[in-house]
Amino acid sequence: TMKLAQRVSQVTPSITLAIAAKAKAMKAEGIDVCSFSAGEPDFDTPAHIKAAAVKALEDGKTKYGAASGEPGLRDAIARKLSFENNLDFKPENIIVTNGGKHSLYNLILALIEPGDEVIIPAPYWLSYPEMVTLAGGKSVIVHTDAANDYKITPQQLRASITPNTKLFILNSPSNPTGMVYTPEEIKAIADVIVEKDILVVSDEIYEKILYDGAKHVSIGSLGAEIFARTIISNGFAKGYSMTGWRIGYLAGPDDLIKATITIQSHSTSNVCTFAQYGAIAALDGDQNCIEEMRLAFAKRREVMYDRLNAIPGLNCPKPDGAFYLLPDIKKTGLKSLDFCNKLLEQHQVAVIPGIAFGADDTVRLSYATDMATIEKGMDRLEKFVRSKI
Ligand code: PLP
Repeated sequence: TMKLAQRVSQVTPSITLAIAAKAKAMKAEGIDVCSFSAGEPDFDTPAHIKAAAVKALEDGKTKYGAASGEPGLRDAIARKLSFENNLDFKPENIIVTNGGKHSLYNLILALIEPGDEVIIPAPYWLSYPEMVTLAGGKSVIVHTDAANDYKITPQQLRASITPNTKLFILNSPSNPTGMVYTPEEIKAIADVIVEKDILVVSDEIYEKILYDGAKHVSIGSLGAEIFARTIISNGFAKGYSMTGWRIGYLAGPDDLIKATITIQSHSTSNVCTFAQYGAIAALDGDQNCIEEMRLAFAKRREVMYDRLNAIPGLNCPKPDGAFYLLPDIKKTGLKSLDFCNKLLEQHQVAVIPGIAFGADDTVRLSYATDMATIEKGMDRLEKFVRSKI
C-alpha cells in the first residue's frame, strides 16, 4: 500500500455524502426512498441566470481569467455587500472562489497554522473542523443545546478564548440547526470579538433563506472595530439554487485577500469564466426568484415541523432559517448513526446523523424536497420512531 501524507489520516470522508450515496444506490435499484439528506435547493437555477452564462459562453468567455475573479463580478459583489449588508468592501477586498466551501478553505489555509485555535460552535457544518485539521490547527468545539436554540452565548465564547485563539466561525442562518442569531445576539458576540481581539469569519451562505420575519445582520456591519476583524464568506449555491455552478466569495482585509489570491493562483486558478457571468446576472437581475423559492421552503417547513413534533419521542425546535430541521432523538435510545442506518434500511428514509455535526443526539432533515415526499417520509419516520419507544 502507498504511504499517504499524515494529514489525510486525520480527516474523515463526509458522512453526509456517504448516506446520500447509499440512498442514491437504493433508488437506482428501484427502491422507493424518501430522501431528506439534500443540502441543496431542489429547484433549477433561474432561467435569466442560465441565459447569462450561455451568452458568455457564446461570446467567447472561455479563456483563463484573473485568479481573483472577473472584475465585473467583484464589482457586483462589492455593490451587493454595501447595499444589502452594509459592508464597505472595495472590489480589491473580494476574491471569487469555487463555492463557499472553497472560500473557507482558502481562508483557513491563509490564516491557520499549527498552534492556532479556531472556535467552532456545535452543531457545526461538518467541513469546518476538517479544514482546520488539514491546515494543522486546532478546533475548539463549543457545545450548544436546544434550550439555547443551539446558539453560542457571549459567555461561552469568552470562556473558550485562549492566547492561541485566532478565529471564531459564525454561521447564521446555520447548517445544520437552521437557527438565526438575532441582531442583539450578533452585537453581543461582536463585543467579545473586539474585546478579545480575535478574528471572525461569518459564513452567510443561507442569508436569504429566512422565515417568520427573522432578520439577517452581518456582524461586520456593527462598527469599524468589528469590521476590521471580520471576514465574510458567501456564495450563490443556496439562495440562487446554483450548487453545481461552484461560485462563492470571500471579503476581508487587504493582506488576507491578497494571500488567498496567491494560494488560489497556485491551486485552482480562476473560477470557470463563463459561470461567473451567470453570477453577475444573479446579483444584478430580478431578486424575485429568491422569494419564490423561499415561499416554497416556508410551506414545507411548517408541514415537516408539525409532523415531527407530533411524533412521540421526537423533539424539534423551530428554526428561522436555512432548510433544515434538527430533531432530538435521545428518547429513542439510538445513537444517530444507528438511527439513520436503521431508518434507511427498514423504512427507506434518508436523514443525516447528527454525529457528523458534533451532535449525536440529533438527526438532520432537509425540507428542500417536494411536499409529497415530505408527507410520505413523515409517515414512515413516525412508524419507525413509534416502534423504538
Ligand atoms: N457553508 C455552509 C454552512 C454550507 O452548508 C455549505 C454547503 O452545504 C457551504 C458553506 C458551501 O457551499 P458551496 O461550496 O456549495 O458554495
